Amino acid sequence: MITTPTLLVNEQVCRDNIRRMIGLARHNHIQFRPHFKTHQSAEIGQWFLEEGTSKITASSLSMAACFAEAGWKDITVAFPVNVREMETINQLAGRITLNLLVESVEAVKLLGLGLTSPVNVFIKLDVGTHRTGIDPENEKAIREVMAEIRKSKRMQFVGVLCHAGHSYQCRGKQEILAVHSAVMTVLQKIKSTYSDIPDLVISYGDTPTCSVADSFPNVAELRPGNFVFYDLMQWQIGSCQASDIGVAVACPVVAKHPERNEVVIYGGAVHFSKDFVEENGRKVYGKLAIDRGEGWEGLREDVTLIRLSQEHGILQGPDAWVASVKIGDLVKIIPVHSCLTMDLLRGFEVV
Ligand code: PLP
Repeated sequence: MITTPTLLVNEQVCRDNIRRMIGLARHNHIQFRPHFKTHQSAEIGQWFLEEGTSKITASSLSMAACFAEAGWKDITVAFPVNVREMETINQLAGRITLNLLVESVEAVKLLGLGLTSPVNVFIKLDVGTHRTGIDPENEKAIREVMAEIRKSKRMQFVGVLCHAGHSYQCRGKQEILAVHSAVMTVLQKIKSTYSDIPDLVISYGDTPTCSVADSFPNVAELRPGNFVFYDLMQWQIGSCQASDIGVAVACPVVAKHPERNEVVIYGGAVHFSKDFVEENGRKVYGKLAIDRGEGWEGLREDVTLIRLSQEHGILQGPDAWVASVKIGDLVKIIPVHSCLTMDLLRGFEVV
């Protein structure tokens, strides 16, 4: 029996999402290297394995170590290398193919000083998100980092890696496709600027563009992660249908305030995170999933998680819905950001 906020994972929906994305990569003859930070689960990793995935992405060395423990043998840590973790880097590099990310000569030098085993190295490019990475126009900086990598006998330069995270600002397919097309133009330029390196690998991937675009010229590797679950944010962006969302959080109802059309649930910021989307100028932390047996089917746009404190969540909906809910019921909520919700709740139940 579910007694506290619990993540529910719809296996069928997630497996369909995995198959669809693998199909896209295969159709384009691109290596699939899904980001596992979304699910962080050995069990869900198996669903990918069963569909033919052999190479993966992680967002930290400790996450890479967990997946190496689970049997994965080729892992990219898609985060600027943290040179304070040399011991973990060397342990991992000694037993799997470890691919690291750098964006400065300084980091490459420090990495070179500490490495005792071979690693593959990507240069991180900033294709418009402005979070991290070298400006793709800055050929001098890119060539300097490449040259520094090549000085080390333990580092193998592989290529460039980018993430079009600014696709998260899009609303609707046309906007997503515009971001995609702008990034593809940048990658085309990279290919021609570095035509002296014919085997330069371009690694690319974010869920919005990979869900909507169907061709990825010059891309050798696709790295989306969130698509395995999707969530309310992706639904609002236009990356998925409500029926593609593979996670919901089951939360006990603990109080009701019909005069405010509100229902209080056990499910707060420590379960959902404080990530929100905006709807008509107000913050939305989740939407009610439509209950179907042990799972759910779609969502109700008129029942909204409008506030979160540490453990409380406040749902607001129409009179008839508030009247139908009883204290002690379980309600299922589609979270805004499935990666963070999974990270906070850790375990899950498969439905
Ligand atoms: N690659 C990098 C470097 C990322 O930071 C992320 C996510 O933040 C991904 C890939 C996966 O993208 P998404 O979460 O949109 O699937």
